[in-house]
Amino acid sequence: MKRLAPVAICLVLFAALEAGADPGECWKLRKDGHPAQAQSCFTGLTRSGDAYSRAEGFWGLEQWEQANEQFRLATQAPNSKALYKARWGMLLHERFNDADAAGLFREAIAQDPTNAEAYVGLAMVSADGFDGKAIQYLGKAMELDAKRADTHELMADLALANDDRDLAASEADKAMALENDALDAMAIHAAIELLADRSPEAWFAKMQAVNAHYGESYARVARQLELHYRYEDAVTYYRKAIEVEPNLWAAHSALGIDLMRLGQEEEPYRELELSYNNGYRDAATVNSLRLLDSYKNFDTIRDSTTILKLNKSEAALLSPYMQTELHTILATYERKYQMKLPGPVQVEVYPNHEDFAVRTTGMPGLGALGVTFGEVVAMDSPSARKPGDFNWGSTLWHEMSHVFILTATNHRVPRWFTEGLAVHEEGARSAEWRNRVTPEVLVALRDKKLLPVGKLDRGFVSPEYPAQVVVSYFQAGTICDFIGQKWGEEKLVDMAHSFGKLQTTPQVVQQDLGIAAEEFDRQYLAWIDHQYGTEAAHFNDWRERLKAMVVAVQQKQYDTVLQQGPAVLAMYPEYVDDANVYELMAAADRARGDAKAETAILTAYEHQGGQMPEVLKRLAALEEAAGQPAEAIATLERVNYIYPVKDEDLHRHLGDLLYAGKQYDGAIREYRARVACNPVDKAGAQFNLAQAYFAAGQKDKAEESVLAALETAPGYRPAQKLLLELQQTPGKSN
Ligand SMILES: [Zn+2]
Repeated sequence: MKRLAPVAICLVLFAALEAGADPGECWKLRKDGHPAQAQSCFTGLTRSGDAYSRAEGFWGLEQWEQANEQFRLATQAPNSKALYKARWGMLLHERFNDADAAGLFREAIAQDPTNAEAYVGLAMVSADGFDGKAIQYLGKAMELDAKRADTHELMADLALANDDRDLAASEADKAMALENDALDAMAIHAAIELLADRSPEAWFAKMQAVNAHYGESYARVARQLELHYRYEDAVTYYRKAIEVEPNLWAAHSALGIDLMRLGQEEEPYRELELSYNNGYRDAATVNSLRLLDSYKNFDTIRDSTTILKLNKSEAALLSPYMQTELHTILATYERKYQMKLPGPVQVEVYPNHEDFAVRTTGMPGLGALGVTFGEVVAMDSPSARKPGDFNWGSTLWHEMSHVFILTATNHRVPRWFTEGLAVHEEGARSAEWRNRVTPEVLVALRDKKLLPVGKLDRGFVSPEYPAQVVVSYFQAGTICDFIGQKWGEEKLVDMAHSFGKLQTTPQVVQQDLGIAAEEFDRQYLAWIDHQYGTEAAHFNDWRERLKAMVVAVQQKQYDTVLQQGPAVLAMYPEYVDDANVYELMAAADRARGDAKAETAILTAYEHQGGQMPEVLKRLAALEEAAGQPAEAIATLERVNYIYPVKDEDLHRHLGDLLYAGKQYDGAIREYRARVACNPVDKAGAQFNLAQAYFAAGQKDKAEESVLAALETAPGYRPAQKLLLELQQTPGKSN
């Protein structure tokens, strides 16, 4: 469509007022930068005799309730069109109700299977939910109506989110060929330029020539930058969106959320509150405000290189473990990546998974356990998860790898590589923390569903089947394992630097590994097949035999379990989740009173990375009973990485073992953790801590703890005795 000259606009408007305009014309006036005329046009529609026109009119005037009401009327009329339902769905989508919107789109399609608008609507809902179906719906909409520019704009947006820049550019071109005012297509072109570190100005000038006050296109640019981890650049363009369109509340909210990701609090609060007060109350806005509010429940623990934000209820317990681990991580990665971070890293730990989830809103393929924004890491606390579900140690190594890689490449790195490297680093820290092959990965291997390395980003952003994100993490991680093994660890660092120079995956593979991407795919697939091909091929057989073993345990047929166990185990030794062979065999050994065999099978479980705290604690007890305190200590220290919370007994027990082994620093750490658990026997906990301090030669601290014990229980004889002893021992130290 051509742009209308002002005179023509007045004529259109006049006609609109007289005879009831086409809602499309009113929307076009708004989009093309004629807000006053658009306003009059929409007002004209609200006076129409037709409920559907009134609905569009109120919608344009942002009178949401009235618009909703008129759509209800319009869709109830006997001659109601499918389009009315589809447009009502679009309104609901805009007003944060995707569930009802999707329902209306489906009703519209049921009434008229050729309704393109409804398919566009479904695509928009799917795109926001990252459920991977958006492309399919868009294809259908294009088939039904080849003249719509918005289908190509949305396709371009999705392609760029998947980092398919060529497809994004060609779809944007198609949209512009259909409509001169395809502003969102121009925004995609601008984003492509920015992602390639070229100037976007020519595209912005084109956009401004159509409408200088269309903030949405800048917001779209910002959103793409965000999806490519460029949070600071995203802030710049959200600000630009607001500058040209101050009432664009969605951009205010997005700006606030983005600034939160950069570790700020005050400006995000102002921006989010502003959007909220102006009726922009989507889940992300509401939940982010709630999260900011909950920060008052957090303690901040700083030193020169780390900032820990921990909930007050668990800060004393978790901070010593996490701070120590962070320092180890910093030292390791500084050596490996040959760099230091520009400032302290901030790690936020959320005991409420919902709070953490708010941090990751709208971040596809990210955030199951932790997420990194530049030098800010947000993650679940172990207390947010079921015991055994989550290892905070491996999560921290993973997220911190992102911090280094994002910093080293100035946030210019494809998703697959930063995720793959982070997964690889977990395994490098401990073989038990490596990314084990899960059943869904085995199925994907069996069905040959791995992606070429050049297209691996797609598996994270637009999964084509539900498990594809998990499978893509595994693939990206094992690709980095493969590179490390075949070409050496330092190649991974070289590759990071090449990505930082904005080379594409095929270019980086060619340059740093010396082979074409297709050849790399071939070699990697052969390597992975060599490792897991047999397991994948026998997956169904394994599953059936495991089921039979579960039944055998239930029926107490322990001989059968022990007889069949080793063969089933050998078919898939990495499996340590629900109903694994290790635990089934251990149960049989235990029933038969064979402590030695039980210890052996549980040790194998431990070394495969099994992490159910109760199982590991059972192993520690067996090791202790067998006179192997060092093994028991090592086992319980693993539990500390998994579920150190709500377990006073773990810390007391581990403290006792360490104390008995004269490892006083470790004993102090564990006894302090026990005190932080708010134990029932407070005096006893303080007394144990005092003893450990005393043994370590820290008499001041010992005295402090013994006095704390006596404050709780003044008549506590052993504490009185220790105090006396402390006072009689000459010389003080700390
Ligand atoms: Zn990650």
